[in-house]
Amino acid sequence: MPTYRHHCVQCGAFDVIRPMRESGADATCPTCTAPSRRVFGAPALRALPAGLRGALDAQHRSADAPQVVTTPPGRSGRTQRRATDPRQLRLPRP
Ligand SMILES: [Zn+2]
Repeated sequence: MPTYRHHCVQCGAFDVIRPMRESGADATCPTCTAPSRRVFGAPALRALPAGLRGALDAQHRSADAPQVVTTPPGRSGRTQRRATDPRQLRLPRP
């Protein structure tokens, strides 16, 4: 998601991360909650690898709305490997 710079008359500039469809809307100042208009500046061009960019975006998203685990992890992820050597079958098991 892109970052947009807004300017509060009392507090100064602050950045807002929001979807592009909401780019023209005014933002609420995080300090004084006054409505603040968007200002235009130099574009924040990034030449990050796609994986790193995705991880950073996920980090920003999780700051506002973290994903919550609702069930404990099951054993479905564990796979039992069968022994291919018959001598391994005679080994003691935990
Ligand atoms: Zn303010």
